[in-house]
Amino acid sequence: MLHEPESAMRELSGCATSEPPDELLSHITSLAAARRRPLTREQYVQGILRGDRTVLARAITLIESARSADRLLAEAILEDCLPCCGNSIRVGITGIPGAGKSTLIESLGIYLAESLGEKVAVLAIDPSSQISGGSILGDKTRMPMLSAHERSFIRPSPSRGTLGGVAQRTREAMLLCEAAGFNNILIETVGVGQSETTVHGMVDFFLLILLTGTGDELQGIKRGVMELADLVLINKADGDNLAAAERARSEAANALHYFPLSASGWTPIVQTCSAHTGKGIAEIQQTLQNYRAFTSANGWFEKRRSMQSRHWMQEMIQHGLLQNFDEDAKVQQRKKEVEREVQQGRMTSFRAARTLLEIHAARIPEEKSPI
Ligand code: GDP
Repeated sequence: MLHEPESAMRELSGCATSEPPDELLSHITSLAAARRRPLTREQYVQGILRGDRTVLARAITLIESARSADRLLAEAILEDCLPCCGNSIRVGITGIPGAGKSTLIESLGIYLAESLGEKVAVLAIDPSSQISGGSILGDKTRMPMLSAHERSFIRPSPSRGTLGGVAQRTREAMLLCEAAGFNNILIETVGVGQSETTVHGMVDFFLLILLTGTGDELQGIKRGVMELADLVLINKADGDNLAAAERARSEAANALHYFPLSASGWTPIVQTCSAHTGKGIAEIQQTLQNYRAFTSANGWFEKRRSMQSRHWMQEMIQHGLLQNFDEDAKVQQRKKEVEREVQQGRMTSFRAARTLLEIHAARIPEEKSPI
């Protein structure tokens, strides 16, 4: 196997078999080393604020790291960047696999970046990738044009950890993207499990993509997910599928009538589009703008963000406490024994939980702060 600098060199020279000259190889080696050199907190922050995508990617890697030193540095970077965060529209995009999420994000992203000159970051939360190791959302190969665009930044879903942990890292990544000037944040998730609710809790606007032509247009989509949507998009409205898409549009519009008015006061709408032909893509952007104007005027936009921030804080506290509890050696020592007692019916689960919590609480003053 070739080392990284050697393969880079061969790629550059376009000569896969010839041996690279030593001088050039050592130059490339030192360039690669420089890219990996640790950055200081200030270098990270300055890099992010000037929109350097390499530094941004490295900062997100820190966020995703399991090392506590990395976490601390990541928190410090986030804190420094915080005054520059928030200037964006955060859009959650969901739909079952095959609905056309990545094709649509590519098409919408290119429209935003190319026609409107905006900056687009694509992040993802994919709990299924942890189980199947399968399609990791936000994967650059699924959005080849957008990933090559100078005004885009694409980051796949972190593939380790619980949904809560993955979501936390994605939220932090989102803030860093905003600090780097990305004013459109698209967060992709699969239409299975709990991830839609999680993503809904971190975005301004929620877009649901439905499939057509499957007979039952609402197949596979839970009523609860429909209820979260600010925009239901019937994708693949092209070719032979046009009539089916139109049918799906009116069915979805009918279904939405039965839902209660959302707290934002916004009436969810249904649109058709084709990510392939680009028809209807500009209209999605128009809807985003209308939503922003509407919810800014009635105060919901800011209110929702501040409620979400409070919610994240609460989640962080719970997450931190639970992690501390799980890592408490004294708790671990007693846990097996207490679990046995519970399983054999000699202790109630309430008493068992209280016993372990008391053991942990007794230790908290000796430990560092949980978060
Ligand atoms: P995802 O799993 O939701 O990300 O779906 P993909 O974006 O990978 O799309 C699934 C399939 O649908 C692919 O074969 C796409 O080429 C196709 N597809 C996506 N958008 C459209 C569209 O607007 N029209 C048509 N005809 N096919 C589409």
